[in-house]
Amino acid sequence: MFEAVIFDMDGTLTIPAIDFAKLREEIGCQDEDIIDGINMLPVEARGRAWEIVERHEKEAMRNLRLTPGVPELMRKLDSAGLRKGLLTRNSRSSFDEFAVKTGFKFDIVVDRSFPFLKPHPGAVIHMLGEWKIHPSRALVVGDYIHDIHCGKAAGASTCLLLNENNRRYGEIANFAVPDFFALDRIIFE
Ligand SMILES: [Mg+2]
Repeated sequence: MFEAVIFDMDGTLTIPAIDFAKLREEIGCQDEDIIDGINMLPVEARGRAWEIVERHEKEAMRNLRLTPGVPELMRKLDSAGLRKGLLTRNSRSSFDEFAVKTGFKFDIVVDRSFPFLKPHPGAVIHMLGEWKIHPSRALVVGDYIHDIHCGKAAGASTCLLLNENNRRYGEIANFAVPDFFALDRIIFE
């Protein structure tokens, strides 16, 4: 039985709204991780790159649509007394807008200002330390390989929310689910 669930935001709690291909093209980074890609740019080009990222994040928030089943699961986690964490590589202002629009409350939110970003397990280790919860009692849920690697490296269980582009990561995660109703069963059954 889990005592904590840590969620990714984009593409997990929300229906994917960031066009990463377009974002990469505008920034001029290829296949590499976007944040690594920006850090590899000359210092004077990074400010502009972050502005592009923030514009895309704002646009995604304007078009915010929740993944079906999310509000129900949030309420159920609250009533069951499980800890809820949110771990995103988005900016704090992007999360703040999400929180205002949805009314969701999390016990801990980690955004990209945290020194260790996914796939580094630092943020998960930090949350579990704060909550004094053993990693084996925590589930990390996300839609990308970084989410799964991050949870695994922290010693937590992991669940991939399947979409049409990520099926190949399914075998790395402990669980792979098509929707939040299946995730609900993993947590509560
Ligand atoms: Mg995601």
